[in-house]
Amino acid sequence: MAVTPGRAPTGGLTRDLHSPVRAVDIGRRDFIKLCGTTAALLGLGSAGIPRIAQALESAAVKRPSVIWLNFASDTGCTEALIKASYPNAAQLILEILSLDYNETIMAAAGDQAEEILDHALKRGDYILIVEGGIPTKPGYGMIARREMLDIGKEFAERATAVIAVGSCATWGGVPAGDPNPAAIKGVREALGVECINLDLCPVNEGILVATVVDFLLTKRVPELDQHGRPKIFYGQTIHDQCERRGHFNAGRFVERFGSPEEELGYCLYKMGCKGPDTYANCSKFRYNDRVSWCIGAGAPCIGCAQPGWVDQFAGFYERLPGVDIPGMDGVAAGADKIGVAAGVVTAAGIAAHAVGTAAKRRPDKNPSSGGTDKPTGPAK
Ligand code: SF4
Ligand code: SF4
Repeated sequence: MAVTPGRAPTGGLTRDLHSPVRAVDIGRRDFIKLCGTTAALLGLGSAGIPRIAQALESAAVKRPSVIWLNFASDTGCTEALIKASYPNAAQLILEILSLDYNETIMAAAGDQAEEILDHALKRGDYILIVEGGIPTKPGYGMIARREMLDIGKEFAERATAVIAVGSCATWGGVPAGDPNPAAIKGVREALGVECINLDLCPVNEGILVATVVDFLLTKRVPELDQHGRPKIFYGQTIHDQCERRGHFNAGRFVERFGSPEEELGYCLYKMGCKGPDTYANCSKFRYNDRVSWCIGAGAPCIGCAQPGWVDQFAGFYERLPGVDIPGMDGVAAGADKIGVAAGVVTAAGIAAHAVGTAAKRRPDKNPSSGGTDKPTGPAK
């Protein structure tokens, strides 16, 4: 548990109720920064900062209960959360809210931990965060001699909101990869409940914080796409928000790692980038204290925000077939034709980039809602 030196662990904090935020040791400057960043991420602008500050301050008094359950995963989302120092994600979850149970970071263990969980369940009125896929085959996923599936159902029933964090909890992710002997599924499918799906592997702590803050602010679930993802974060493709998009439109591609083209930051489509088929805003949120992100760091997007990942995008360095080049009627670019068409494409591509959305593998039934109904991926 994150403990401020010289203070009791969270849950036993001596609280100054007249100044709840200071009482949990988030400095005023950091607090304002958190509010400002979250307002920007929620598209509220600076006008939203006072509302967010108020919501967080009243949350710090009431301390809404959060139960964080871990199922089949590598706890990468918990790691991402507690290692983040910006925008104070860990403080928000650990101290402004009351994180009553997270088996990875709580001090209690064994019977004591079970007791805490039991009390939280009886009290009800908590936000349930689930990390990890849920084994649905009996005997393949047990905690304290109970099926993970049963535990999940029990806790989801009494939750005010259920948030599935990371690819494992949303669609099964890596643990559900073929052959998936434990029949691992995501929260929605396994438990049959509505939940907010925060895809990505691991979840971006900024998205989690912004979602929780939005819930505290509005007291309702944000507008979701057909995959249960908040549209505000998952409404556009990686490709449409990519800093290398100009190179794609101009037909400038990296053909091999270690090449001068790679050094020049050309488009990674030919190196297997799944950005045209992946809906998320990683270029805005970024990782590692918002320093960089996959494509920014030189790696192709492997599509971890999409339903059906990893199997649907297996062959991480294989090219996504059938990607159209914007503004080029009939240039169905298949990966290998793109370079050939490059010279012709340049002018048209730059113009098309200004239009915004264009490159996609197949017509999208509802682009604004986060993609096709079915998971997409390269042909096998
Ligand atoms: S293909 Fe990938 S690297 Fe190229 S512009 Fe699209 S998202 Fe960016
Ligand atoms: S850029 Fe692609 S692979 Fe990287 S985190 Fe975002 S969705 Fe996942």
